[in-house]
Amino acid sequence: MSNATQALLLVIEDDPQTRRFLTTALTHRGWRIIEAENGKTGLAKLKTEQPDLIILDLGLPDIDGITLTKRIRHSADLPILILSARSQEQNKIMALDAGADDYLTKPFSTGELQARLQALLRRINRINNSNDLFQSGDLKVDLARRKVFMADNEVRVTPIEYRLLSILIRHADLVVTHRQLLNEVWGAEHINDHHYLRIYMGQLRHKLEINPARPRYLLTEVGVGYRLADNDQSSGLTND
Ligand code: CA
Repeated sequence: MSNATQALLLVIEDDPQTRRFLTTALTHRGWRIIEAENGKTGLAKLKTEQPDLIILDLGLPDIDGITLTKRIRHSADLPILILSARSQEQNKIMALDAGADDYLTKPFSTGELQARLQALLRRINRINNSNDLFQSGDLKVDLARRKVFMADNEVRVTPIEYRLLSILIRHADLVVTHRQLLNEVWGAEHINDHHYLRIYMGQLRHKLEINPARPRYLLTEVGVGYRLADNDQSSGLTND
């Protein structure tokens, strides 16, 4: 699957108006859509229809969206985009930690939604093609040789800095929570040691950013985590 016209999207949303809006807007942009009006139907359709991506509303009548995210994640590895009227950071963090890949707060524009879905598709394609080279603007990372380049000059990074960077690359253009990063790099016993992240992200920014105070690559998602900007859209879609 390399473009949206082939991708099948499962929309789990109880509000008929939002569902209709999503289906109309996304069908128009070339996605194939299946709908589910509650969590139970969503889980059933996940099995029978085998979608490529899921859009999930957090406030469902039968199963809480966070619980549903965990259940989906338990059985399938497809990208999950959360849609929610709940804008607090805590909800975003909970959803992302439960295994969601991204989060969009209502109200949102279709352009924004399309951009988020494309980022998720690029992630699938990146995993499937197991690209050995990541490129975003002047940043180039050779994942096979574990080497980092900025404008073709090699940048020396420590093993921990590299680990952080490679996790962000795996989720390029998507937010990764503090907890996810701390857990993957330092282990479960350090998930509250936010200062580790501040120190190492600071170091990475000094090495990779022209102006570390105004980063172009290693972006802060305030209160939630970090996002690596993916400025190379060539592996994405052009049919927008
Ligand atoms: Ca709802």
